[in-house]
Amino acid sequence: MTLLTTQNLIAHYGDFQALFGVDIQLNEGETVAIIGANGAGKTTLMRSIAGVLHNAPDAIRFDDTGIGSIHAADILAKGIAMVPEGRKLFPSLSVEENLQIGCYGRKVAGPWSLDTVYDMFPILRERRHNPGTALSGGQQQMVAIGRALMSNPKVLLCDEISLGLAPVIIKDIYAALPRIKKTGTSIVVVEQDISQALRVADRVYCMMEGKVTLEGRPQDLTRDAIQAAYFGAT
Ligand code: ATP
Repeated sequence: MTLLTTQNLIAHYGDFQALFGVDIQLNEGETVAIIGANGAGKTTLMRSIAGVLHNAPDAIRFDDTGIGSIHAADILAKGIAMVPEGRKLFPSLSVEENLQIGCYGRKVAGPWSLDTVYDMFPILRERRHNPGTALSGGQQQMVAIGRALMSNPKVLLCDEISLGLAPVIIKDIYAALPRIKKTGTSIVVVEQDISQALRVADRVYCMMEGKVTLEGRPQDLTRDAIQAAYFGAT
């Protein structure tokens, strides 16, 4: 069943147009990856869905309701949680307090609690009283993912969760996604690392210059087609 769609989604920053009619679809239980180079519009797409940007009120539907003009807090309450680019933890708060903040906006029963987040990322249990700033980049990313999960979302939006992390840490972070998917949560991952995205996704959209240039299941996409859609024809 289709859970989330954007149809002809357009976004501007002042006079600058960042999205030119983006159509994507996320089905229940699915993991979708959005790939594309710097500036392709991936973050703008995520921020539009999460209600941070309001450019196209009728272009976004979730659970068969238009959500394009709804505020971010209400989008979270409806069940779409975002792991923002750059993690954005509260530096003066402890790991546990950062996690607890995640469930203020949406208090529903579900698979995620402090315990289940700590079971998935055991290092966070050890560090639970440390301030967010005392953590490594990878650990901070785990907190940001855990914080979003604490709202027991139907959809988890992950914006560049591998950015700036060492390959071995990225592997750990990405290992969490199948576990999250198993709980029934649908996932959108924005990723510049193509191979990482292809490994984890049921379907992939490639964006370039504010448009979707390629869409398909990883096993159906050739390397050449991805390269052309990602970098443009050379
Ligand atoms: P990145 O990987 O760098 O985050 P991206 O694919 O997520 O890239 P966006 O961040 O969505 O791309 O940016 C799309 C376009 O919109 C870029 O040309 C960018 O310069 C522009 N842009 C993004 N945020 C703003 C803003 N706040 N004001 C003006 N232009 C912006």
